Amino acid sequence: MKLIVLGSGTCVPSLKRNAPGYFLESEGMRILVDCGSGTLLQLERAGKSYKDIDAVFVTHLHPDHFADLMPLIHALLATPKFKREKKLLIAGPAGLKEYYQNAFTPIFGRRELIEIAEIQGEIEFEPFSISSAKTIHSPESLAYRIESGGTSIVFTGDADYDERLIALSNNADLLITDCSFTHSLKMKGHLSAGECGLIANKAGVKRLLLSHIYPSDIPDSERVREAGEVFDGEVVLAEDLMEMVI
Ligand SMILES: [Zn+2]
Ligand SMILES: [Zn+2]
Repeated sequence: MKLIVLGSGTCVPSLKRNAPGYFLESEGMRILVDCGSGTLLQLERAGKSYKDIDAVFVTHLHPDHFADLMPLIHALLATPKFKREKKLLIAGPAGLKEYYQNAFTPIFGRRELIEIAEIQGEIEFEPFSISSAKTIHSPESLAYRIESGGTSIVFTGDADYDERLIALSNNADLLITDCSFTHSLKMKGHLSAGECGLIANKAGVKRLLLSHIYPSDIPDSERVREAGEVFDGEVVLAEDLMEMVI
């Protein structure tokens, strides 16, 4: 799988870190995990086209993870001389269908092109297999484990420390975490860097990518140090437009 970090930031506007969004590609299929504000422009900066996205997996319905879905659909429907033939799957937590119906259908009408799926447990979207776990953050928030070609990436979405995250991340090749703060600034409903390291350690993952970074006066390197205190594997701080092959 090829991964591009489109946004390593949060809801706080930042010129350095866009709101959350990740591009994943395997066997010619391209998906987004989260689609926060600015994701469409980040895709352009990454040299990828919004026209080629096959599915979007949303972790939860907070705007920093979700807000560019409307511009994405608008662009797919309204780009001059472009006719989208393949369906776009939008998958996410419970409540997504109702949200779509209330917020999107009045604007775009009912469209055959768009398929909405609420994820309960697992979903196949070839060549990707996606499993999920509830997270401690918002009533609907999910974490995803995405496997393809024998490798696995776990996205915690927004999450607090939880045994279910450890189970979902078991032996994953890459764990991408909500690393909102260092321990001293820990907020409920988000992971601290130390907790990210602890989950990575207990789950036995190969690599840990710290993301969802709030702007802070504490240097970013402190997060890597804090996570590295409890996790022996490789700890990487996410940067926008960073690419990895997993
Ligand atoms: Zn968030
Ligand atoms: Zn959130």
